[in-house]
Amino acid sequence: MTATPRPRAILTIDDAPSPQIGEVLDVLTKCGIKAIFFCSGEQIAPYREFLLQALRQGHWLGNHGWNHRAFSSLSLADCVTQIEATEAVLSDLRTEAGCTNHPRLFRFPYGDKGFGIGPGRVLLSRLHPKVRALQKYLRVHQFRSTLDLGIQIPRPRFPYTLTTLDQDWLWGSDSRDWFFSKSGQSPGAYTHWMSENFPAVPPSDEFRVFLFHDHPGHPAYLQSVLPLLAARFSFVLPKESP
Ligand SMILES: [Zn+2]
Repeated sequence: MTATPRPRAILTIDDAPSPQIGEVLDVLTKCGIKAIFFCSGEQIAPYREFLLQALRQGHWLGNHGWNHRAFSSLSLADCVTQIEATEAVLSDLRTEAGCTNHPRLFRFPYGDKGFGIGPGRVLLSRLHPKVRALQKYLRVHQFRSTLDLGIQIPRPRFPYTLTTLDQDWLWGSDSRDWFFSKSGQSPGAYTHWMSENFPAVPPSDEFRVFLFHDHPGHPAYLQSVLPLLAARFSFVLPKESP
């Protein structure tokens, strides 16, 4: 019997590490999924050991800024400090875990590339000096984009198509876990919603990049929904950069 071919997907988990990251790692191990944790630098110190464990288990760590400030509210210099301070901590962790071959990855808090969010802002931001300077910073400092790692993400909606060549990691599929946990809905209700909204589809060259969050209370949602998603999608990490 051959397994049904499934489309490829990448699981990204933002705002890590939370006090429950150990539970998140347990759920991922049970489901056989490797993920990318986008970390906030200031949260790392108390949970270093869990992030080392994550690296040793084959997960990747990405940079999500120092303290989840919207980059449109910061000067260019402060944005760069947010990225550098966090990357220094992540780099130490990768060295300690023997994972120096992992690529540098960056995701802006709220997806705010420096000029706010929403379609109008995304369109205008293409010309904004701070947005352009941040993209250049990421490129020069060898942060790898999805395309650099051979990952094509469907971006059918204009103006988001314009972000295809950017160096930062936007997501493609918002799991809306934050909404369900905030409104106190059950993991079962959440899984039902995911089941309806992320149907099984035929494999293609494109990857789905799922966005989840490492927030308190979320492991129960992940535990409920990941087996469903793992049956429909093949969760992989990009090939490690040379
Ligand atoms: Zn975030």
